[in-house]
Amino acid sequence: MKRRTLLRSTSIGTIAFLLGITATKSSMSKKPEKISLSDAQWQDKLTGEQYRVLRKEGTERPFTSPLNDEKRTGIYVCAGCDLPLFNSSAKYNSGTGWPSFYQAIADSVETRTDYKLILPRTEYHCARCGGHQGHVFNDGPKPTGKRYCNNGVALKFVAEA
Ligand SMILES: [Zn+2]
Repeated sequence: MKRRTLLRSTSIGTIAFLLGITATKSSMSKKPEKISLSDAQWQDKLTGEQYRVLRKEGTERPFTSPLNDEKRTGIYVCAGCDLPLFNSSAKYNSGTGWPSFYQAIADSVETRTDYKLILPRTEYHCARCGGHQGHVFNDGPKPTGKRYCNNGVALKFVAEA
């Protein structure tokens, strides 16, 4: 009986300890450490289309990504380095033909202004490997009003176990 009580209090202590760690981590929301590979290493690691989009800021043809129809619960990670970028809960159907999200996971993407077209657009890329993901617009749904228009080939979907 004594032994059982001891075990129980130990496991509660362990859980509290783990929760404490998790809370500390998320409140710190540390930016991911950057990784950098040479061009040859990226070409080796990625498919041709992934390389063209992620490393050369290409754009995939709309309505071609299987992720457009992905509706399962899970996480979308960078196809270049596996950093989690979007939760499935933030995905919505924008009708544009590219996987769209109204919110990125905190600190997972960085933005910069892209002047390739006449009107400047906001490009965003993976905060860890710098891989180009897409462009973010201000015509998204509530609660953020943002539309992260993402190349499907730049993402990998990891279904919740
Ligand atoms: Zn990445």
